[in-house]
Amino acid sequence: MSQTKIPVLDLKPQYESIKEEIQTAINRVIESGQFIMGPDVKEFEQEVAAYLGVKYAIGVNSGTDALVIGLRAAGIGEGDEVITTPFSFFATAESISNVGAKVVFADIDASTYNIDPQQIRTKITPRTKAIMPVHLYGQPAAMGQIMNIAQEYGLKVIEDCAQSFGARYNGQAVGTIGDVGAFSFFPSKNLGGYGDGGMIVTDNEKIAEVAGMLRVHGAKKKYHNEVLGYNSRLDTIQAAILRVKLQYIDKWNQGRRRVAESYNRLLVDVEGVVTPGLAEGHVFHQYTVRVTGGKRDGLKAFLAEQGIGSMIYYPIPQDQLPVYKGQYEACPVSDLAAQEVLSLPIWPELEKDAIEKVVGALKKSL
Ligand SMILES: *Cc1c(COP(=O)(O)O)cnc(C)c1O
Repeated sequence: MSQTKIPVLDLKPQYESIKEEIQTAINRVIESGQFIMGPDVKEFEQEVAAYLGVKYAIGVNSGTDALVIGLRAAGIGEGDEVITTPFSFFATAESISNVGAKVVFADIDASTYNIDPQQIRTKITPRTKAIMPVHLYGQPAAMGQIMNIAQEYGLKVIEDCAQSFGARYNGQAVGTIGDVGAFSFFPSKNLGGYGDGGMIVTDNEKIAEVAGMLRVHGAKKKYHNEVLGYNSRLDTIQAAILRVKLQYIDKWNQGRRRVAESYNRLLVDVEGVVTPGLAEGHVFHQYTVRVTGGKRDGLKAFLAEQGIGSMIYYPIPQDQLPVYKGQYEACPVSDLAAQEVLSLPIWPELEKDAIEKVVGALKKSL
C-alpha cells in the first residue's frame, strides 16, 4: 500500500519558496562579521514595531525569555500573584515562577480554550499584580474583558503571544493591547526562525528601558551593570532570517486561515467532532478540534496508522504537571479539554487534497 505521509507540520515548502532570500540574508551577516547585536537586530525590531503598531520592540533569545524579562520589566516579582491559564505550554507558568511570583490558575472557556474572564475575577486577591493571557492556537483571548478587569483592579497585563504573531483583536495586534507582549520565533511558530528567538513589545518607555537592560546582563552602558540580568540577545542571523519572513507573514497567516476554513467546511456535520470558531483575527497557529465521547486517543492512533500526524496541545494542563501537582484547585474545563483536543496538520501551504485526506481518514475512524 503506497501512501503519502502527512506530517503535523512541514516547514520545507515555505523554505523552498524563499530559499534564495534566506541564503542571501544569512550570508550577509556572515560576511559582515557582526554576529552579536548586528544591524539586522535593530532593523528587525523596528520592522516588528511598525508592523504591530507599537513603540518599542526588544529582541531576545526566546519566547520564554521574553516572558521572564517582560514580567520583570513590568515590575513583577517575589510576593506577587499572576493569574494565568492552566491550558498552555509550560513556559507560560514557568516564567511566572522563575521571577519569584506565585502562579494562580483561572479556568478556560470551553469553546476558545483561552482564559475565562469570569474565572479571573474569582482569583483576584490583594496580592494579585498581573494577568497573563495566552492567545492559544493563534486565537486572541477576550482582551476587552481582560483589560477591563485589569483597569478595575490596577493590574498589569502581560500577553503571551508565542502562538499568535499577526493575530488581531478588534483590529489591534495582540501584544500591543496589554502592558507587555511576548513573542516567540521558535521554528514552528507562525513567524518562526531557524533556531530560538523572541521579542518583547511595549508602548511603555520605562518597561522598554528595563527590558533592554535585562537582556544584556542588566547594563544600560557596557561594563556598568546595574541589576542582575541575562545573556538573552536575539541572534543576528535569526534576525536577518526573520526580516525576510516578516514580509510574508500576512500571506502565510491567510494561508493558515484558508486551511482552517477548509477543515471546518469538510467537518461541518461530523458527529463527535467540535470544530473551532473562525473568530476574526485568529491566525490558526494550530487547527484544533475537540473529539468527544472518549474517542480522541483512538482517532489519533488511527490517523498515525494512515500516515497522518496529529498532536495534543496539551495532554497535561500546567496545574497538573509534576512541578505544581497538588497545589491548586481543579480547573475542570481545562482538564476536559486536555482529554479531548486534537490538533490536525496545518501550515500555510497545506494543499486541498491533503486536507481532504485527513478529513477522510478522520471520518473513517469515528
Ligand atoms: C512556544 C511557546 C512559548 C515559549 O517560546 P520559546 O521561544 O520556545 O521559549 C511560550 N508560551 C507559549 C504559549 C508557547 O507556545
